Amino acid sequence: MRDDLVPAVERVAARLRGARRVAVLTGAGMSVASGLPTYRGIGGLYNDMVVDEGMPIEEILHAYTFARNPALTWKYIAQIERACRGAVANEGHHVLARWDARFDVRVVTQNVDGFHRAAGSRHVIELHGNLGELKCIDCERQYTLGELEPLALPPRCLHCDGLIRPNVVLFGEMLPSAALDDFDTELRRGFDVMFSIGTSAGFPYIQQPVIEAARRGTYTVEINPDGTLLSSSVAEHLACPALYALQAIDAALAVG
Ligand SMILES: [Zn+2]
Repeated sequence: MRDDLVPAVERVAARLRGARRVAVLTGAGMSVASGLPTYRGIGGLYNDMVVDEGMPIEEILHAYTFARNPALTWKYIAQIERACRGAVANEGHHVLARWDARFDVRVVTQNVDGFHRAAGSRHVIELHGNLGELKCIDCERQYTLGELEPLALPPRCLHCDGLIRPNVVLFGEMLPSAALDDFDTELRRGFDVMFSIGTSAGFPYIQQPVIEAARRGTYTVEINPDGTLLSSSVAEHLACPALYALQAIDAALAVG
């Protein structure tokens, strides 16, 4: 392990040993070791990128563009899906899934790749939805991408010819209220330890709960190679990649 990280990792492991409820808030950095690019937007998709059409990606992946020109939005959703395809959950996801056996873990993710569930985490709140889930906006029939291949742009429902959309939050859309309610309920129950992993924490609904928890005495840990808006508020900032930190903490836990 990197020498400079040892004391912080030991402190985190020590706090975890006495913990019951553990919150893990994750963003794009969590999936870097799976080979996914750290985008912004859908699950952190596309960082300030201007696409072929000369529009910022935020506009292409916006609800109003999808309503007016679904083929354009779908062109980029399909591109994102291709980037995700073949990627799988990494050991960091698996560490968190194993922690279910030891702690009462709640994973709250901005990622749409579905890797936390795939790794076996039992309690996952997907704030931005899941790219692998598609549905017809008219009859609500559910599809997987595989069922719609070869993919038309935009894909149409095989049952009613309605427009199909992925179950992800586009720009200009509200977060799914059920996921927000679940998150809120869990926050009110409180946590002993709260992690913020691989997220720039730019969204207030990620930032605020961590700052609030720190204020209320929850032990807060940020794992991010870079400093963020949260770094000055958390008890520990491990400046390294998600996978590296989680493996180090897990190893320290095993020893203790
Ligand atoms: Zn339909």
